Amino acid sequence: MIPMSTGPVPATADAVVVGGGINGLTTAYELSKQGVKNIVVLEKNYIGAGSTGRCGGGIRQQWTTEENIRLAQESVRMYENMSAELGYQVFFRQGGYLMVTEDESHLTSMREAVTLQNRCDVPTEFLQPEDCRRIVPDLDVSAIKGATFCPRDGTAYPFAVVWGYARACHRRNIAIHIRTAVEDIECDDGRVRAVVTDRGTIATPLVVNCAGPWARTLAAKVGIELPNRQERHEIMVSESLKPFLGPMVISISNGIYFSQSMRGEIVGGIGDPAEPHWTAPEQFDTRSQLRFAVRFAKALLAYYPKAGGVRLMRQWAGMYDVTPDHRPILGGVPGLEGYFHICGFSGHGFMLGPMTGKRMAKHVVTGERDDIIESLSLDRFANGDTVADAFVVG
Ligand SMILES: Cc1cc2nc3c(=O)[nH]c(=O)nc-3n(C[C@H](O)[C@H](O)[C@H](O)COP(=O)(O)OP(=O)(O)OC[C@H]3O[C@@H](n4cnc5c(N)ncnc54)[C@H](O)[C@@H]3O)c2cc1C
Repeated sequence: MIPMSTGPVPATADAVVVGGGINGLTTAYELSKQGVKNIVVLEKNYIGAGSTGRCGGGIRQQWTTEENIRLAQESVRMYENMSAELGYQVFFRQGGYLMVTEDESHLTSMREAVTLQNRCDVPTEFLQPEDCRRIVPDLDVSAIKGATFCPRDGTAYPFAVVWGYARACHRRNIAIHIRTAVEDIECDDGRVRAVVTDRGTIATPLVVNCAGPWARTLAAKVGIELPNRQERHEIMVSESLKPFLGPMVISISNGIYFSQSMRGEIVGGIGDPAEPHWTAPEQFDTRSQLRFAVRFAKALLAYYPKAGGVRLMRQWAGMYDVTPDHRPILGGVPGLEGYFHICGFSGHGFMLGPMTGKRMAKHVVTGERDDIIESLSLDRFANGDTVADAFVVG
């Protein structure tokens, strides 16, 4: 049991982190390691209730922008050591990621991405369709035109990761308040003064917005309009099977991804171009649809005919918090001291979260310039300084 309060909040804090997902918890933990003392995490529901507890747990370093590659690479190093660091088993397994395409026009960008990833010391290789069978013996490669494989990519169990961080936060005297919603952020004279919750007000000089798909609603409390939108994404889990699948398989053509968990289940999803892009705050739909189950099953069988007859046990949906270039928004905002964003991760916040929290905590505490945080600042949208990553899937 991790002690978490549902009582009144403290009157003061040195830092308040909003959100009990991967980003909020890693940030709180890393702020504490940077020497911040009186830290409070506020979560309106339960730990992992947002996107984190609904995600596929995939962790890959195969991206086409250097920021994403470096954040993922540094996060993978943290995942490799995470169970020991947190004293909690997070079930990180490096079975690799096999990224396939059915579209000839992707092959050039895939080869270029391998070159960039190798330059960053990520050991990705380009594969011909037949080579994929070396990695997934029963894969149907008849429609595949090419693939890339990185053996150091993998998966972790999302709930174990947030529970592990929550326990580690508790050991560092960080107060976690669940069922506690932030209703307002008070500012004056160009700086943050307090956070107003439904369980009282906390005077604080520092607020970090890690509210995931609700980040835009929270940012509006301090007068900032984020360009983020919300998108429903669905995912499913099958009955447990004997181990048969080493890597996560993902198609950059149709957006399917599937892996096998350490308990033997197939876990997978597929993006749906018919899903609306919601731009009004608090527009959410996390209902499950038969349409998803049918689309996913058809796509899975095209790659892995042996999955025919496997029983789907459960499906659910969560929200992506999507920015116009599908890359996160990190850092503070000019003219408002003490307020920071860590949001906008689309479908890759679980894999980038650990290192993002670490870099952001250091940046917030020391004020040191960080080139990745700078290139992912909110300003980039106003300055037209955006570069989309070509390997956003889903
Ligand atoms: C179906 C699906 C599959 C995915 N698969 C992957 C994957 O394989 N790999 C990967 O890297 N990423 C994946 N993602 C994306 C990933 O889940 C997110 O990018 C990541 O979890 C974001 O974490 P977060 O901590 O920023 O936000 P969240 O986990 O959403 O946490 C935000 C928290 O803030 C709380 N909150 C919001 N507003 C308030 C408030 N006012 N007061 C108090 N609390 C508040 C919420 O309740 C929530 O718990 C997937 C997402 C989905 C939906």
